[in-house]
Amino acid sequence: MRPKLVVGNWKMNGSRVANATLLTGILEGLDNAKAAVAVCVPAPYLFQAEEILKGSPVAWGAQDVSCHPVGAYTGEVCMTMLQDFGSRYVIVGHSERRAYHGETNELVAKKTGAALAAGLTPIVCVGETLVQREAGQTMAVVNAQLDAVLEAIGAQAIDKIVLAYEPVWAIGTGKTATPAMAQEVHAALREKLRACNAEAAENTLVLYGGSMKPDNAADLMAQPDIDGGLIGGAALKAEDFLGIIRAAS
Ligand code: PEP
Repeated sequence: MRPKLVVGNWKMNGSRVANATLLTGILEGLDNAKAAVAVCVPAPYLFQAEEILKGSPVAWGAQDVSCHPVGAYTGEVCMTMLQDFGSRYVIVGHSERRAYHGETNELVAKKTGAALAAGLTPIVCVGETLVQREAGQTMAVVNAQLDAVLEAIGAQAIDKIVLAYEPVWAIGTGKTATPAMAQEVHAALREKLRACNAEAAENTLVLYGGSMKPDNAADLMAQPDIDGGLIGGAALKAEDFLGIIRAAS
């Protein structure tokens, strides 16, 4: 059986004071959670995350990374910088990066490959917009996003990534995919992974993201192909995040 994983995506939120309160609140309330837990924080706070979380069951990571190893890329952050602060995870291809920063499937695939090569676990986001869903293009969109990644990393590496299905229309909107809607896409994604590497596909974690909250998390994560959550808004309050971790446990 695949373990559950709950990851917080803080997006561009936080301050030294707020982060300390949030992280200590999570650590204090974690009890004996069975799910694996991580937080993906803004890059300037990786140092603080490492200081507070080192030696705890909560892993940490970043929300984006450059595909380049080092050099003249003003404003960018590279893999070795994430590693310098003990990061385990990095989100790649979040829909906000695709929409606001023009990230293409090919760039996301490149970042995924570079993260794997650096020994980080990429959390690769795929998902359709509302217009695409209503046009019946959901699977075509997520398949194209996943195809680019699979081509870049190869069949042997598919269980080294975490995949996150995040319907864009559900992110930050309070509109969640129903468990059945989400499961349908998750099952299709896993089928695609199986076609690539049947054995590894059983071990690849596929998270759901999009307005997951303590009160809908258990139903979503009870679905056979939903292995946890990528959490935005509800990851900013310790009690809400802990509620989702409990639902996953
Ligand atoms: C996200 O941004 O990855 C996300 C899932 O956000 P929210 O939970 O706020 O919808």
